[in-house]
Amino acid sequence: MSAITMRELTKVYPGGVQALDALDLEIADGEFFALLGPSGCGKTTLLRTIAGLEVASGGSVRIDDRDVTNLPPGKRDVAMVFQDYALFPHMTVQENIAYPLRIKKVDRRSRAAKAAETADELGLSALLERRPGQLSGGQQQRVALARAMACHPQVFLLDEPLSNLDARLRLEARTFLKRLQRELGVTTVFVTHDQAEALALADRIAVMEGGRIRQVGTPTEVFRRPANTFVAGFIGSTPMNLVDATVRGDELHVAGVRLPLPEGAHAQVTDGESLVYGVRPEYLDYSPTPVPGALTGQVVVVENLGSFSLVSLDVPDETAADDGAPAGTGHAGSSAAAAGGAAEAAGTSVQVVVAEG
Ligand code: ATP
Repeated sequence: MSAITMRELTKVYPGGVQALDALDLEIADGEFFALLGPSGCGKTTLLRTIAGLEVASGGSVRIDDRDVTNLPPGKRDVAMVFQDYALFPHMTVQENIAYPLRIKKVDRRSRAAKAAETADELGLSALLERRPGQLSGGQQQRVALARAMACHPQVFLLDEPLSNLDARLRLEARTFLKRLQRELGVTTVFVTHDQAEALALADRIAVMEGGRIRQVGTPTEVFRRPANTFVAGFIGSTPMNLVDATVRGDELHVAGVRLPLPEGAHAQVTDGESLVYGVRPEYLDYSPTPVPGALTGQVVVVENLGSFSLVSLDVPDETAADDGAPAGTGHAGSSAAAAGGAAEAAGTSVQVVVAEG
């Protein structure tokens, strides 16, 4: 068992930067867990604090029933793979993989056997005598993983594990990493700023902002039910449309369109309330000819993205649209998926994904 529990975890760097702000988080045993968020939100600090490479300024970290908050890294039974892999350039692949075992004073013969076994599991057997400088980025990454695996740690910590690989290799390595984690079943926490990577790999994701966690959930939950407009805007390959709306009786008035309030929403809103309506570009349909009752706007940009185009429309704001029919050439209808949250971000630009063909 190796669940990780953080309570009111706080990190203030010398100079006063608060990187973690009384953060609570539980990661289950065997989970593949992503820390996701924009640059500077505290992902790496959180990972390094779990590893013991940063000392917490307050709060606690537990791995199972052990409070590890004040333990040095070597006593935590965790292995970290760094973004740049941090391999020893003068050592062979075999020596790199065996290094942690040497530190643990495992005898030479057992070290070699264990390194060979781990290398075999990661498809590195033919490379044991090479040095890191003679390996591709993907191979170096596997050596770094092998070195982390060799000691059978309770927890794997991966800092942006795929960011040094080119796009094609990254996809391959993603699949490989997911399979490996499934096979090993080791609790794994990885940091990424790439939401597609988090959605593809993780069992659950913590979306962070400013040293705090804005939402924890499965990829489906954070994608379909973002808890706030920050998460709604951050998750998704094309950002969610966030449009000002007003509750009017049983309806929601959104940029001149009247939508029935979603089921169950009545209890959460009051008549006349202003809120933000969120709908993903891929959940809207697009028609170049007028559709009665549909959101109407002026097409301003069409971006060809290969198998689909992203059409950007300027739509009149809610008040203007309520007063009269807007002129325009683009029409989007069949909306779905509302996102709640405070009215902190809204605009009159709406994007629609239009499949080719
Ligand atoms: P990125 O995706 O850019 O790596 P991140 O989400 O991992 O960002 P952190 O590296 O954890 O963010 O940094 C969180 C905050 O703490 C940032 O404001 C950063 O500038 C600050 N910070 C990080 N390391 C230190 C340090 N050693 N001393 C002072 N401030 C630091």
